Amino acid sequence: MTRPVIAIHGGCGVMAKLDLSGADWADARHGLGEALLAGWRTLNEGGSAVDAVEAAIVIMEDSPQFNAGHGAALNAGGIHELDASIMRGADLGAGAVTLVRRIRNPIRAARALLEQGSPVMLGGPEADNFAARSGLDMVEQSYFTTERRVASLASLKAKALEGTLKSASEAEKHGTVGAVALDIAGHLAAGTSTGGYNNKPEGRIGDSPIIGAGTYARDGVCAVSGTGAGEFFIRHAVGHEIASRIAYLGESLAAAAAYVIKSDLASYGIGAGIVAVDAQGNITAPFNTDGMFRGWIDADGNLFVGTHADVSSVLL
Ligand code: ASP
Repeated sequence: MTRPVIAIHGGCGVMAKLDLSGADWADARHGLGEALLAGWRTLNEGGSAVDAVEAAIVIMEDSPQFNAGHGAALNAGGIHELDASIMRGADLGAGAVTLVRRIRNPIRAARALLEQGSPVMLGGPEADNFAARSGLDMVEQSYFTTERRVASLASLKAKALEGTLKSASEAEKHGTVGAVALDIAGHLAAGTSTGGYNNKPEGRIGDSPIIGAGTYARDGVCAVSGTGAGEFFIRHAVGHEIASRIAYLGESLAAAAAYVIKSDLASYGIGAGIVAVDAQGNITAPFNTDGMFRGWIDADGNLFVGTHADVSSVLL
């Protein structure tokens, strides 16, 4: 029996340390802890890595703290268009939805596609219709909207007009949630869900629903979920690239992930981060921004959460 592990992220768009109030930190930490525990309980009850990833992501989609589900980013037209995917390492089964507007928990729709087997990906209104036919909870657009995202959209539009977009904070731009897990049967899984970035063009699809880019899992190698400038994750096929470095170069999980995030992607000056776990239960969570909401429960059952460079250990 494998000792299970789970790791999650709540996006690399964390506010600068000085701007993060005690209350913000407590809320974020609470959301991360709840998501980790939901996944961990699933694993300890003998649930699969896919079940654990879905359980953890649903909690973060339901929390207004994170850019996914309730609290998701708004596109340039003031609309929420959500992306999500999930992958099972055992057989490379995968499901993904993109540009969905009415599914309360897009990760559940991705899971339903995974279970159906084919197609791997559905987009737009037909993805919404698939979720409704599958009996998933459907909501109005207003369900996803929070004051913080409305303010971020207004601020980014103003900066775009002034030509000062580069000064926008990572928190205004980014978000995304993701989870990776190793279950007691030794299987890996990964999942990612996002509203994309604030003020993104209508119809823009990021890396989060792209298998091999924002999400990837392969038994015996690793499971990866990413956050950051999706266009670069797609071009570098980040999830698959990390798995390939491990499988073909024999690199450790930490070395492969650090290389891709801190060398390959950092060279563009864009924000990026991932969480990943390998078949031995090693966990890594590199990022090149000020911070990344993240947490994990290791094989000894120790829970850790962090926002910036420091990571706190919490006794379960
Ligand atoms: N990766 C997401 C996207 O490009 C955004 C983010 O994680 O900040 O849609």
